[in-house]
Amino acid sequence: MRTVKFSRSRTYYYNYNLNKSKLDFAINLGVRKSMKTGFFWDEHCFWHSGGDFSFTLPIGGFVQPSVSESYPENPETKRRLKNLLDVTGLLKELDVKSAAPVTFEDLLRVHPKQFLLEFKDLSDKNGGSFGHLTPFLKGGYEIASLSSGLAKEAVFSVLKNENKNSYALSRPPGHHCLPDFPNGFCLLANIAIAVEAARAEKLTQRVAIVDWDVHHGNGTEAIFFDQPDVLTISVHQERCYPLDTGFAGDIGKGLGINYNMNIPLPPGGGHALYLEVMERLILPKLKSFKPDMIIIACGYDAAAIDPLSRMLATSETFGQLTKMVMNAADDLCDGRLVMVHEGGYSEVYVPFCGHRVMQELSGSSITAEDPFKTVFEMRQPSERVQKFHTELITELHDLFF
Ligand code: ZN
Repeated sequence: MRTVKFSRSRTYYYNYNLNKSKLDFAINLGVRKSMKTGFFWDEHCFWHSGGDFSFTLPIGGFVQPSVSESYPENPETKRRLKNLLDVTGLLKELDVKSAAPVTFEDLLRVHPKQFLLEFKDLSDKNGGSFGHLTPFLKGGYEIASLSSGLAKEAVFSVLKNENKNSYALSRPPGHHCLPDFPNGFCLLANIAIAVEAARAEKLTQRVAIVDWDVHHGNGTEAIFFDQPDVLTISVHQERCYPLDTGFAGDIGKGLGINYNMNIPLPPGGGHALYLEVMERLILPKLKSFKPDMIIIACGYDAAAIDPLSRMLATSETFGQLTKMVMNAADDLCDGRLVMVHEGGYSEVYVPFCGHRVMQELSGSSITAEDPFKTVFEMRQPSERVQKFHTELITELHDLFF
């Protein structure tokens, strides 16, 4: 065990069981703040497709093709987010990069060989689907590997001090993918692959993953369920997807007990509920865990008009949550914060939520005014309902702490 001391306005000590060459990432927070935010994206990820669907239904029989309601996980939400950053000029303030696909060795740290070979074989032919809600076309394996590659490079860029923090616009998403079972639009476990690649390089030891996608991060949970050095936290709409996971009593197993935290919320929760959950449940858990980096599974499907959930978060909710985790990262791990894109299915609203997050991450003054701000604020839960939410959080707090 080695103690590292370095000066700044406050003196910080970091204990890493690592050799000196791997300690280079422990830098002054002020230096980190002067770096740019990394933004990792690749047009090829937008070319992932599951084929012709009307919503989640394959076209055929009585299911008519639909122009307006294509497969929920489609490129538009992501492409429009990137386009909005371009149009407002915020993209110019970011360090915009692509990445190499992850290697087979990277994948093998999380997924069994047989799973990968089956996926590759189908992908080399004409595509297909295995698992649940995970159709892909020819070449889907390579695109999914690139999506994981964006997450990996976003993590490495922060750990190697190339960026102060970073965002990976990964697609397809990853947080539902189990080691041997793709599901919920997720073909590879992007964040887990990135974490294990960084741990294999001894760039990090204790990682906290906070998943605020509206659906339960069941894949990430399963992969790290018995591990005490990766804290997994998921806040989600109860029984939205999957139906049979994400319960508050699922706190880990073996050495991993108390290193998994599920915060299931009733439908209809909005801005105040999410901020209270962060303040009273997530931040204290992060503080007690003392991570050396924080990764956010950043979905925007808790937003008020998302077609796949029934929550009432706004772009400002995501902005405030970002600010709160940035402060936690500054206090706990020298500002090391990475966001990896997950869900969010409103083509028109995801860009405004994502822009608000990128503005906060980068510290930019460039804004994209939220055209739904007034109407979504009017729809927030009443005081009476908020009181019920506070009682619910108290109940969860008593369970966890
Ligand atoms: Zn989701």
